[in-house]
Amino acid sequence: MNSADSALVLFSGGQDSTTCLAWALARYDRVETIGFDYGQRHAIELTVRPSILHALRTMSPASDRRLGEDHMIDLSLLAKISDTALTSNVEIAMLENGLPNTFVPGRNLLFMTVAATVAYRRGLNVLVGGMCETDFSGYPDCRDDTMKALQVTLNLGMATRLKVETPLMWIDKAATWKMAQDLGGTALLDLIRSGTHTCYLGERGTLHDWGYGCGKCPACELRARGYAGFMGR
Ligand code: ZN
Repeated sequence: MNSADSALVLFSGGQDSTTCLAWALARYDRVETIGFDYGQRHAIELTVRPSILHALRTMSPASDRRLGEDHMIDLSLLAKISDTALTSNVEIAMLENGLPNTFVPGRNLLFMTVAATVAYRRGLNVLVGGMCETDFSGYPDCRDDTMKALQVTLNLGMATRLKVETPLMWIDKAATWKMAQDLGGTALLDLIRSGTHTCYLGERGTLHDWGYGCGKCPACELRARGYAGFMGR
């Protein structure tokens, strides 16, 4: 593992990770994807993954050539060892420590560590994740410092030279829509609008201009506000 030409993308089927996947497909010769089933309440994200992968393949011959295996990992133990609104059926609310109760402590640390293990086995040398500091929720495991420290830790612990890339770290949701447009034009925008899933409640009845969702949960609000910003409204 010495050249930075292959990547493993943490791909959930949401807007951010789909944009990251398009970003990786524009950069690396070989791209594989990894997804985690951890009993999340919006497991609908996981069901849209295959159709997004298929659509990305049909969008360009280069993407079709570059896109390799998809790894689906069962992390149901996460729901067993943590108590959070993402994995149980409780109302989404803010906690006293300023974090929403959708926070799953250590989630991204675990995801990145599992991804690094898969990357090691597959000979992939870049990990790509959609973590973002400008997000509304301020999840501490999405911070740039956390990801940089993790990169050092993983490489020390596995004697590797893996690189952790987070292309969305410093941009807001409007700029994430713009990035998708720059990467894949209207076709990619349309795929992200109607093909990806973000809503915490798993609502997929109505297609809004920003995509499917309840329109009221924090994830929908953030996505809708970002889209409005992108459209210049
Ligand atoms: Zn929603």
